[in-house]
Amino acid sequence: MADCIFCKIAAKEVPSQIVAEDDQVVAFRDANPQAPVHVLVIPKSHIANVAAAEKGDESLLGHILRVGAQVATEAGVAQGGYRMVLNRGPDAGEAVPHIHLHVIGGRALEWPPG
Ligand code: 5GP
Ligand code: ZN
Repeated sequence: MADCIFCKIAAKEVPSQIVAEDDQVVAFRDANPQAPVHVLVIPKSHIANVAAAEKGDESLLGHILRVGAQVATEAGVAQGGYRMVLNRGPDAGEAVPHIHLHVIGGRALEWPPG
C-alpha cells in the first residue's frame, strides 16, 4: 500500500534490522525499543489492523503468532518470558496502521500495562 511505512519495510524500500522473514511475514527490530528484545512481526500484505482482518486472514494471523514465538526463542527470551502485544486504536497508542505484533522481552514486564 502506498505511503505505508511497514509495507515499505516489508518491500525493503525502507531499511530495518530484519531478524526473520519468510514468504508471508517479516520480523524486524523496533526503532524505539521498550525492552532489550523488541521485535515487530508484520505480514507482507497490508492488513490495516486486527479489526480489519478478514476470515481469510486467520491462518496468516496465526502464523504471525508462531513466528513471534520463534523470534523470542532465537532472541534468548523464551525461558525468561516475553509479551506479545497488538495495539488497536488511540487508547492503546496504535501509531502505524499496518498490523504488527510486538514481541517484547529481556526484562521483567509490569502488569497491568500502563
Ligand atoms: P504501535 O504503537 O502502532 O503499536 O507501534 C508502532 C511501533 O513501530 C513503535 O514501537 C515504533 O517504535 C515502531 N516504528 C515506527 N516506525 C518505525 C520504523 O520506521 N522502523 C522501525 N524499525 N520501527 C518503527
Ligand atoms: Zn502496509
